[in-house]
Amino acid sequence: MSEFKHKHSLGQNFLKDRKVLIKIIDSVDVAENDLIIEIGPGQGALTKYLKLFHAHLRCYEIDERVRKYLDGFVDAKTEIVYKDFLSVNLDEELKNLTYNNLYIIANLPYYITTPILEKIINSKVDVLAMVLMVQNEVALRLAAKPGCKDYGALTVYLSYFYDVDRLFVVNKTSFDPVPKVDSAVIKLTKKKDIKLANNEEYFFNLVRNAFAMKRKNLRNNLKNYNLDKIEEVLKKYNLSLQDRAESVSLECFIDLANTLSK
Ligand code: SAM
Repeated sequence: MSEFKHKHSLGQNFLKDRKVLIKIIDSVDVAENDLIIEIGPGQGALTKYLKLFHAHLRCYEIDERVRKYLDGFVDAKTEIVYKDFLSVNLDEELKNLTYNNLYIIANLPYYITTPILEKIINSKVDVLAMVLMVQNEVALRLAAKPGCKDYGALTVYLSYFYDVDRLFVVNKTSFDPVPKVDSAVIKLTKKKDIKLANNEEYFFNLVRNAFAMKRKNLRNNLKNYNLDKIEEVLKKYNLSLQDRAESVSLECFIDLANTLSK
């Protein structure tokens, strides 16, 4: 049998630790009439366990060389789509499918973690929960709370839609080939009551600008906004223009955006 040549450029570190796979599927409750999207099934290590839910399963894999490992999974409820996940139009792909809740469960290709998350957030698809293997460093950033050094714009975007939990850390030796970094599994659960910004585009821009220069304070990063109004809102949260964006909670950002965009 020919040896599979893993492509580092595609983030091909395959999960080989059964205990980790079991912990991943145990972290989510999927019913038979739900749909799971898996990004990057690779040789099917996680796919095999996702099949245990007997739900609809749609997997996106960029590398056709793994077709021979995945063909056996295809059935009336399971489809493997050989496409770059970043290039698919999710809203179009899912609009004719019938399912109850949508889950995204994946051991992500790390080189495109942020674009994948941004794509999901920017699409209209309604995802109930995501369980994702990411680089541990990224997991810390995504699950960070205000005041932590890891708290950034992406943390705020995600926390607008989802509760983010870092479930457990995964040692690099759980993968083949062994990557340079440790990993962690995170769970993103759609918030039940999203406190909406009146103008989401304005809100997202404000957050991006507030974090534009990591080391600068709010006065500097937001100098093109009405600083008097900002100061007034910040006071309610015991903050000032001298503080940095990493101290500003989601609620405060929404309050700022709603006040400034009036
Ligand atoms: N799910 C498998 C596992 O747990 O062993 C493989 C995970 S591996 C970390 C990431 C997978 O994503 C690889 O199979 C890789 O070929 C695939 N991949 C990389 N870029 C992709 C893209 N843009 N769209 C879809 N799949 C991609």
